[in-house]
Amino acid sequence: MNVYYSDHITFPLPAGHRFPAAKYALLRQELLQQNILQERELIPATHIAPEIVTLAHTQAYFNSILDGSIDDRSMRQIGIPWSPELVRRSLSSVGGSLQAAQDALRQGIAGNLGGGTHHAMADQGRGFCVFNDLAIVSLYWLQNQIVRKIAIIDLDVHQGDGNAALLGKNPHVFTFSMHGAKNYPFHRVPSTLDIDLPDGTQDQEYLAALENALPRVLAFRPEIIFYLAGVDPLAEDRLGRLQLSMQGLAQRDYLVLNACRSNQIPVAIVMGGGYAQPIEHTARAHAQTYRVAKEIYPI
Ligand SMILES: [Zn+2]
Repeated sequence: MNVYYSDHITFPLPAGHRFPAAKYALLRQELLQQNILQERELIPATHIAPEIVTLAHTQAYFNSILDGSIDDRSMRQIGIPWSPELVRRSLSSVGGSLQAAQDALRQGIAGNLGGGTHHAMADQGRGFCVFNDLAIVSLYWLQNQIVRKIAIIDLDVHQGDGNAALLGKNPHVFTFSMHGAKNYPFHRVPSTLDIDLPDGTQDQEYLAALENALPRVLAFRPEIIFYLAGVDPLAEDRLGRLQLSMQGLAQRDYLVLNACRSNQIPVAIVMGGGYAQPIEHTARAHAQTYRVAKEIYPI
C-alpha cells in the first residue's frame, strides 16, 4: 500500500503553539514500529504543480502564499506563521493527496499522511489549512476527465466548509461531512450531506449515524472516494467535543473502508485533524486507520 508523507519538511513554530506538528513524524514512526507499514510503502510526497493549485485557489492568494506577501490578518486565520518551509510543506502535502489518489485508482487504496485541509477557501486559508488538497485534486481530475464522479467522506470532527464551498455545487462531487454541531467553523457552507452530532456523542450513536449515511454516498456511484479520516472525534481530543473511544474510531474506519472495498470503489485516505493531549493518542489513532486498511486490503 503506497502511503505518502511530508513530515521531513519541517517548518518553524513558536514554542507552545497549538498546531500539533509532532504528530506527523510520530505517526510515521508508529506505522513502522507497529509493523503496519514497511519502509518501502512509505514514500516522500512530490510538490503539486502551481497550475493545479490554482484550479481551486485564486492566483492572487496562491502568489501571496508563495512569495510571503500575504497580510498578517490572513495568516492569523490560517493560524500558522508564514515561512518558506511552510510553503514547501503545503505544496508537498497537496502533492501527496494527488499521488495517493492516483495510486488508489490503480491499486484500490493508498494514503497520504497529510492533507485533508478542508477549511481552505479559494482566496483564503483557515484553521491550519493553507491549500485545500481534496478540492484541488477533485477539480484537476474532473477537468482532465480522469473520473466523472467523486465522493468525499469527511469524518474529521470539524465541518468541511472549504470542500463544500469549492466543490459543493459541482454535480460531479458528493461531499459528505459528519462533525460536531458546536465545533468550528461557526458559519457553515452546506455539504451535499451534513450530519451534525451533539456534544459528547459516543461510539454507538456515532456509528449508527455513519451506517445510515454511507448508503447515500454509495448511491451516488462515485468512481473514487476520498476518505478524510481526521481522528479528532476521539474523547481525548482537546478540540473535538465528542467522546469516541479508540475502538469506536477503528469501527468507523472499518465501516468506511469495508464499504469502499465491497463496492469496489477506490479509496484514498487523507489525514485531517487530531489534537489529543498527549499527542501520542492522536498518532496512534491515525496509525489505527492504516491497520484497519491493511486488514481489509491485502496489498
Ligand atoms: Zn478537525
